[in-house]
Amino acid sequence: MKRILIALSLAAMIMMPASAKDKAPKSEKVNKVILLIGDGMGLAATAAWMVDQNYAPTAFDRAQFVGISKTYSKNSRVTDSAASGTAMGVGFKTNNSMLGMLPDGTKPESIAEAAKKEGKSIGIIVTSNVLDATPGAFYAHTESRGNGREIEECLIEFQPDVILGGGLAAFQNEKCDEGTMLDKAIASGMTLARTPEEFYAMDKGPVLGLFAEGNYPMVIDRDSDFLADCLNHTLDMFESNKKGFFIMVEGSHIDHAAHANNTEQLLFEMEEFDKAINAAMDYADTHKGTLVIVTADHETGGASLVSGNKDFHMGDSGIGVKYSTTGHTGSPVMIYSYGASAWKLSGVMENTDINKKMREVLLKAKK
Ligand SMILES: [Zn+2]
Repeated sequence: MKRILIALSLAAMIMMPASAKDKAPKSEKVNKVILLIGDGMGLAATAAWMVDQNYAPTAFDRAQFVGISKTYSKNSRVTDSAASGTAMGVGFKTNNSMLGMLPDGTKPESIAEAAKKEGKSIGIIVTSNVLDATPGAFYAHTESRGNGREIEECLIEFQPDVILGGGLAAFQNEKCDEGTMLDKAIASGMTLARTPEEFYAMDKGPVLGLFAEGNYPMVIDRDSDFLADCLNHTLDMFESNKKGFFIMVEGSHIDHAAHANNTEQLLFEMEEFDKAINAAMDYADTHKGTLVIVTADHETGGASLVSGNKDFHMGDSGIGVKYSTTGHTGSPVMIYSYGASAWKLSGVMENTDINKKMREVLLKAKK
């Protein structure tokens, strides 16, 4: 009887039309996730970058699947980075300016915290300040993104394997029993890296990379390899951990350029972010079980591409970027995915679903 059943099911498989087999999504095992967040990066920012490159393939063109993320927060149609970071970090909508905390005071565990418990390596790399809202949403739990001291306490307690960006002055200025919060971080076992070069010379964490007093400078004042270089060295450091990793990379200044309605700065920031995305996708090409997700926390600037702006710095493109606000907007943002189980990120979804899907593929403990 058993044998007949097997024979029948084999016959059914052979009879399955080729097209149906081709379309069957592959559920590949994922033990490594790289989430890249372009802060304030709307579709127009990505499109402006594509125009600037004369439509030569960008990292965004490599996406295997795309989705759309609805970014509204619990108390506003227009989110800030704290609420949308929290949506992606812990998986729940919360009020603007709340970080890793819900309006009723509960503090759900972030995907980074859950992944660390399962023995995975954790990396957080930003171009702003490591205490900023987007990175903070992955390790901090506080009522306001402005509670710097509390966010520092959370960072030291969480102790990611690698955390890189600016923010030195905030750690040095805050006093505590150990001296300053920087002394406390070092006493807890973290190694301080003051420059990217110091970090590149290290082969193990936990590393607290504080490369600037406040935010790390914008690309217009430096080269555009910083994010990709930091990501590549972090990937080297995590290579030996067979349990995998969770890494969040933020192109933080995309938001700042868009707030300033400054297209030249915006394109420089997009260039850096593009290099980081390519680095992540290249890694996924050679490392099975790697899922790369590229998205934004919200759109900034209400940007659109309009015809005939002579000031556009690619003068011959005939296209200009126009902004409708210096603030955030409620426009949904794109999700670009690549690598193992990338298809799971396609479709129209809530920003909290990004967290849910990452948990589903990366963690053993399902929630
Ligand atoms: Zn902003």
